[in-house]
Amino acid sequence: MGRELEGRHALITGGGTGIGAAAARHLHAAGAKVTLLGRRMEPLLAVAEEIGGSAIGCDVTAPDQIEKAFDEARTLNSPIDLLIVNAGIAESAPFHKMSRESWDRIISVNLTGAFECSRAAIGDLLKSDNGRLVFVASVASLRGVPYAAHYAASKHGLLGLMRSLAAEYAKTNLTVNAVCPGYVDTPMTDQSVARVSQITGRSEEESRGAITNMNASGRLVDPEAIGNVIAMLCLPVSRDINGAAITIDGGTAA
Ligand code: NDP
Repeated sequence: MGRELEGRHALITGGGTGIGAAAARHLHAAGAKVTLLGRRMEPLLAVAEEIGGSAIGCDVTAPDQIEKAFDEARTLNSPIDLLIVNAGIAESAPFHKMSRESWDRIISVNLTGAFECSRAAIGDLLKSDNGRLVFVASVASLRGVPYAAHYAASKHGLLGLMRSLAAEYAKTNLTVNAVCPGYVDTPMTDQSVARVSQITGRSEEESRGAITNMNASGRLVDPEAIGNVIAMLCLPVSRDINGAAITIDGGTAA
């Protein structure tokens, strides 16, 4: 990848860690100015320092914070050309024990947060000569997940949002796509490992092995692989990739 994104402004939610941070590095390497959003400033500032980007504190469940953060991002780095909707959380519970609070938490970050961030940027994205909206969905967008009905529902919803926007804006310069990772080597997976250990009493190593084996490849996906595909979707040459859900999971199990 060359410097095809020179002069473009990429805003990434959840950009301080994992997939968001990997996307930030790839977009920066392709020449983009990058703004990182998230709740904790420390990881945001570390990535921002590394790539010469901007870090802004923002909880995507708070529409007033989104409006303020997106305005600040525009002031710092010009209107938004590329929006990467990546912030997300995961929890697990058997359905009969799933609380309404847990359901609301997951939906409000993973789905309503995505709606609000898309809405906050849509004016800019439509004015850009190569606007790009990329959602970080999941293989849980494509199939059911035992003990994570809320997470799978939120990620299925994200694909409905993505496909609808892709269809609605198909005749514009904006494309809307999603990446659907399997288990990735990020803090979210570390938390899943810890949860499995706690619930099952298995060692951390056994739990990590069990999660890793849920990817057909038998290894965790490298977050850099996801960051690379996100940056590829943002290139001007990708203008005819629209409404795609790209699975990156090391091979889907038969
Ligand atoms: P991380 O936990 O490292 O990243 C999640 C990011 O989202 C964090 O930087 C976090 O920052 C941010 N975030 C969470 N809640 C909020 C909020 N309310 N407002 C703003 N930012 C928030 O894990 P990943 O990199 O793995 O996750 C990134 C995305 O990838 C998620 O959407 C996840 O569902 C998806 N995904 C992950 C997979 C995996 O195996 N890891 C597989 C498939 C999809 P902070 O806490 O500071 O706000």
